[in-house]
Order: sequence, then structure tokens, then C-alpha cells
Amino acid sequence: MPAISPDKPYRVGRSRTGLGLFATKPIKKGAKIVRYFGPLLDSRKKKDDAIENKYLFELNGRWTIDGSVRDNVARYINHACKPNAESDVKPRKRKVVIRAIKNIEPGEEINYDYGTDYFKAYLKPIGCKCAACEKKRKKKRAEARADRLRLKAKAEKKALRKAEKQVAKAKEKLERRLKQKLNGNSNGVKLNGKLLNGHGAKSAGSEMIAVQSGISATPDGKPAQESGASAQAAE
Ligand SMILES: [Zn+2]
Repeated sequence: MPAISPDKPYRVGRSRTGLGLFATKPIKKGAKIVRYFGPLLDSRKKKDDAIENKYLFELNGRWTIDGSVRDNVARYINHACKPNAESDVKPRKRKVVIRAIKNIEPGEEINYDYGTDYFKAYLKPIGCKCAACEKKRKKKRAEARADRLRLKAKAEKKALRKAEKQVAKAKEKLERRLKQKLNGNSNGVKLNGKLLNGHGAKSAGSEMIAVQSGISATPDGKPAQESGASAQAAE
């Protein structure tokens, strides 16, 4: 880790993704924090253009700062989607300064937005770990959890209603059977009484015979149709 003068308002420390730069003193909004520096690479030179690392800061189509040098403390500054600092780029001077865009309190991590190109290439594939994105993820997880709980409660309520319905149905069935049993006995007595009174007893008797022999009877007691079976039986 590079030595940092105690006069500076920052230090290198542990962050959620590894190392980061943290304020040690209050930093006013708009104040310059640190310069992002390193050798200038010229994209027109094959040798320069071949250099590849995470700390390349493109100034314009031609010039890029290689910030991977040890003394470039600004390389410890992590990306954030809702940062408290910004990279103030002066392509003509080929200079980059990290500047506060909010009042920063001691202990706060200093961040700036690395830009969409970096985000797409390095952060999107692994998921951005900045505070804003973590918060978003946490919220989403909480919402998903709440959804799951809501669905579970709904399913339990449904199951309970179904069980209650089944119990009610079973109860109803039982009651119906009990009633039938009680009513059935008294009905039998009435029916028997009617039959015993002789009203239409004869036709009822012939009907019964017809059903037993498989021949339907007309009201006057004659077979409705002369099937082969009945003819044979008569002979
Ligand atoms: Zn983010």
C-alpha cells in the first residue's frame, strides 16, 4: 500500500469489495480530493495499445492514463452508481481529478461512477456491489420473501377452507343418512298400510311380476309386446 501523508483527507482501508479509499476528514462538496495519474498511453502506438488492465482511464480516442502504478492512490477508489465524487476529466491537459460532489464525512468511503463502458465490461457480469445496488438487491430479496410468505398464507387459507368444506359436507351427509334412517321406517309403515288397504293392489302385483320376468306390462295387465321368450313360455 502506498504511504499517504497524514495531511491528506483520506486513507486506504477495507471495503466490501476489497480495498477502498475512505475520508479521514470532512471533504466539502466541489473540493478536489486526489488526482488520478499514471503514464499516458497513446493508442496510435502498438506497444501502448496492447496494454490491458483494470486501471486504464480513457481521456479521449487517443490518450489513456495507465493508473495501475503503485503511487496512484486514486486507483483504490471504488465505483458506485450513486457516488459522492466524480472524475473531472480535462482531455486537453490530459489530466483527471477526483472531486467531491457531496459533502463527505470522515469514515465515509469515497466513490465515483466509472462510466457505462467499465460497468458493462467489468461490473455487470459479476453484479455491481456498490451500496445503491446492494440496497436495491436487498429490497428485491425482501419483496420476494414477502411475496413467498403471502403466497404461502394464501395456500394455507385455501387448504383450511377446503378442509372446512369437507368437514361440513361429511357432517351434512351423516345428518342426511341419519334422517333417512329415521324417516325410512315411518314411510315403510305408511306404504305397507296403503298396499294393505287394497287400493290398486292387483295392478301393483302384476307390475311386480312383470318386472321379475322381464316383460313390461300395460295398465290392463297384458304383456306390452309378445317377445319370443314370452311366447315360448306360454306354449
Ligand atoms: Zn452499483
